[in-house]
This record gives sequence, C-alpha cells and structure tokens, in this order.
Amino acid sequence: MGVLDTFALNGRRALVTGGNRGLGLAFATALAEAGADVAIAARDGERTAGVVKQAAEQGLRLHPITADITDDADVERMTGEAADALGGLDILVNNAGTCFHNNSWHATDEEWAQVFDLNVRALWKCSIEAARHMADTGGGSIVNIGSMSGLIVNRPQWQHAYNASKAAVHHLTKSLAAEWADAGIRVNAVAPGYVKTEMAPVDRPDLRRHWIEDTPQQRYALPEEIAPTVVFLASEAASFITGSVVVADGGYTVY
Ligand code: NDP
Repeated sequence: MGVLDTFALNGRRALVTGGNRGLGLAFATALAEAGADVAIAARDGERTAGVVKQAAEQGLRLHPITADITDDADVERMTGEAADALGGLDILVNNAGTCFHNNSWHATDEEWAQVFDLNVRALWKCSIEAARHMADTGGGSIVNIGSMSGLIVNRPQWQHAYNASKAAVHHLTKSLAAEWADAGIRVNAVAPGYVKTEMAPVDRPDLRRHWIEDTPQQRYALPEEIAPTVVFLASEAASFITGSVVVADGGYTVY
C-alpha cells in the first residue's frame, strides 16, 4: 500500500453532525470525495435535502438525517439510521456546535446551558452511540471539532462559555481516546482558527484588528482548508494518532 492509499476512505461509513452547512458540509464533502459513504445530520431537514441534491449533481452521495442532537432519543435514532443506511459506522465527525458573544456579567443561564448542551453533552452522547456501533465491528475513528478557543481567549468579543466548552471538548477527546483504545476506536480533535461560515463573522471590520491582523497568515480560512485534516484523522494515515488536538489556525495561537 502506497502512502497516499492510507488516506483513502473507500468502504468506510461516516456520519457528520451539523453537515448541512459551513464546516460540517465541507467535512462531509471531503470524506465522500475520499471514498467514504457519508450521512449528514442537522435539524433543518429542508436545507439538508437541498445540500444532498446539490452534492448529487456533483456526483457525491450524501444520506440525509434530520435530528436535534441535544435530544437523546434523536441521537439514538440518528446513529441507528446512519448505520442502517450505510451498513455500519466507522467514522463520526462531531461537528455541530454553537456560540454566543456576551460578557460574563450579562450572559444568561439559558445561553450558557445551550452552549454546553450542544457543544459538550450532545457531543458526548453522539460519541457513545456511535462508539457502540464501532465497537461491534472492531473499531473506528471519531473526530471532534474543538476550536483554538479551547486554547486561547478570543478578543475583542467575549465568549467565555464557548471557550470553556471547547476546552472541555479537547479534554473529553483525550479521556475517550484513553478509554476506547482497546476497542480499536481512535478519538481526536481538530482546533480550527477563524473560518468563514455563518457562525463566524470573519468579514466584520470591527473584528479585523484582532481576528485577521493577529493571525500570522493575516487571513481567515475557508472550510475546505480544514477538511483535509478531518480526512487525515479519520483515515489509516493517522493509525497511531489518538487523543490529539490538531490545531489549524493560520498561526493564531503562536502568540
Ligand atoms: P454553523 O453555525 O455554520 O453550522 C452549525 C451546524 O450545526 C449546522 O449544520 C446546524 O444545522 C448544526 N446544528 C446546530 N445545532 C444543532 C443541533 N441541536 N442538532 C443538530 N445539528 C445542529 O457553524 P460552523 O460551520 O462555523 O462551525 C462548525 C463547528 O466548528 C462548530 O463546532 C464550531 O464551534 C467549530 N468551529 C468553528 C469555527 C469558525 O470560525 N467557524 C472556528 C473553530 C471551531 P441546523 O441549524 O440545521 O441544525
């Protein structure tokens, strides 16, 4: 097997949460391009159907699932549906996440709860459900989407709950990697910097001074630039990598 073959995902079955836009869609597309059979899950079924149709026009098959992953019953149904549709599950990309900007004096309990419920608790539930399927077939790879916000504190906007939630994602990644190594399941995280999506207002002039000028590469990324790292971690090319957090941030965290 040549080195490039180790990156191929032919015959692998992958589920991407939050796969109907932004980073999640780029991850799903890249996994499919690398040969995997891919299911995407999100709440907005109409949007997901549109994305699946567009992908089909480009020759890529994505399987749509409508689910709110903060609902435990939905998580169980989603992973079951993905495993049934694809014939099993080898790869889970825990991508769905949310953020709010507010200083800690004014943030509400609801804002805090929403962030932790989706970014941490739902990610944990999805991991458990997917790992059950993976353990049945000898193992798999889970890629959690953390953030450089789990390593540094962003500015000028304050987002303390999000930052803490992503630090939790990174450490949960290490904890599950340790627990599940003997089941053949690798668990890693990617920590992106600023990426142009609906979530991140990377073009706002008032944020430019810190978001762009503080980045050594002096720019934000496009989702397609983060996707190859997810493909790598999902693949056999990363066979000896587990419990790692791979930073892809244009150099932002060097300072
Ligand atoms: P978006 O807000 O553009 O997309 C979020 C995705 O998650 C959507 O597909 C959304 O679909 C889905 N989603 C949200 N809530 C739920 C839910 N309860 N159940 C199921 N799906 C849900 O975000 P990004 O693409 O920007 O971010 C993706 C991930 O990358 C997040 O974890 C984020 O924290 C992380 N990240 C992003 C960075 C950036 O600069 N953009 C930087 C670092 C990390 P729907 O609404 O239909 O449910």
